Amino acid sequence: MRWHVLTFALIVGAICIAPSAVAGAANARPAGFGQVAQVKLQVPEGAVAGPDFNVDRATRAYLDLLTPEQRRRSDAYFEGGYWIRLWTLLYGLAIAAVLLFGRVAARLRDRTRWTRFPALNAGFFGVGYAIFVAVLTLPWTIYTGFIREHHYGLATQTFSAWFRDWGVGLAVSAVLSLIALWVLYAVFRRVGQSWWLWGSVVGLMLLAVVMAVAPVYIAPLFNNYQPLPQGHIRSRILSLARANGIPAENVYWFDASRQTNRISANVSGLGPTTRISLNDNLLTRQSEEGIEAVMAHEMGHYVLHHAFRLIIDFGLLLVIGFACVAWAFRRLVARFGGRWGVSGVADPAGWPLIVALFAVFFFLMTPMVNTTIRTAEQEADYFGLNAAQQPDGFAMAAISLAEYRKLEPGPVERFIFYDHPSGYDRVHAAMQWKAEHLANYGVTSEGQAVSPEAGSSP
Ligand SMILES: [Zn+2]
Repeated sequence: MRWHVLTFALIVGAICIAPSAVAGAANARPAGFGQVAQVKLQVPEGAVAGPDFNVDRATRAYLDLLTPEQRRRSDAYFEGGYWIRLWTLLYGLAIAAVLLFGRVAARLRDRTRWTRFPALNAGFFGVGYAIFVAVLTLPWTIYTGFIREHHYGLATQTFSAWFRDWGVGLAVSAVLSLIALWVLYAVFRRVGQSWWLWGSVVGLMLLAVVMAVAPVYIAPLFNNYQPLPQGHIRSRILSLARANGIPAENVYWFDASRQTNRISANVSGLGPTTRISLNDNLLTRQSEEGIEAVMAHEMGHYVLHHAFRLIIDFGLLLVIGFACVAWAFRRLVARFGGRWGVSGVADPAGWPLIVALFAVFFFLMTPMVNTTIRTAEQEADYFGLNAAQQPDGFAMAAISLAEYRKLEPGPVERFIFYDHPSGYDRVHAAMQWKAEHLANYGVTSEGQAVSPEAGSSP
């Protein structure tokens, strides 16, 4: 009975300590940070606007900015990720087998009956389950999340800093598991055979709540979020935001450089918490044109309500998933329930089976999930090109992303594994846009260069 008190104290302690530790790490900024870009945009020779501008040649000029060695590393990193998906699934299934056949889940259920409320006890079971799985998968998590990231030169953290983030992540997942299982089992106990339908409704509601609170309560546990630093870049980004109907107070930057040197930006939150965040790597490693292009892409997600649309899409997928899981759950528990000590769907000891079946379902649905997200990403790309009108900045950012995403996949590979357009597709789309807006660069539609005064930008 004692250990659960200790666990809760650890979780609460970790949550309280984490934000102050994070805040302490964020102070080392170069002077003038975020005011002017530290990098100048350099358009490669084959992509310079002119009467004989050619989309394919311009695309190739950008791709050729990377050396064969850089391409090889990028391909190896990304392709290794395909296998990591498979091994992660198998590792997870092995753990579920241990929990069920070893009757660990049944024993954990018996030892977490701390109150006379069965659904709340299921929540306590969820905390124990989250900790158990996190500890058993720790070696694999260290390899994929720390060793491999350092091997490819993408990570910036020491092991102790990484491990603290891991602990905070575990604390968050323990708290979320407590709430999720409490609510889910309260429902499962009441609804009988239709549990899969109610499960999807509750699952979707929980997902929406987590999305809404994440930027306010979860993301700040790992990084420091602040309004954009005063300066030239801030005014350009906020001007772009105003032009697209986005309030300035919904644009933030955060110190991702404490974990990684990847450039990135994102849209997070739901409803009133919706916001756009760009990371400090983007501010320090891209030109003004590149920063504008990336931010315009994120504004596309915001303006096109992609978060809301993805909830609807994933809601449908969740209903199908729950239906498949319920079908398999019934058969497996009828066959092995006695050996596992699992009596039915209202029994929290069956939770590892539900998780394992969902893992298999989403593994098989990988191309569906990725294509759904990739389609939205492509829409945001087009929105961003039109809004920022910075095809070269966007192409250069796409090349930077090649550090962790293979540039030129085959069509099947792209369909299965890509949740964003490939670097090739993005550069090509940007160069296509440029080819059709050569007048912006002082080139007339007849292919004649006109005097610089007539052009709106260099
Ligand atoms: Zn995006």
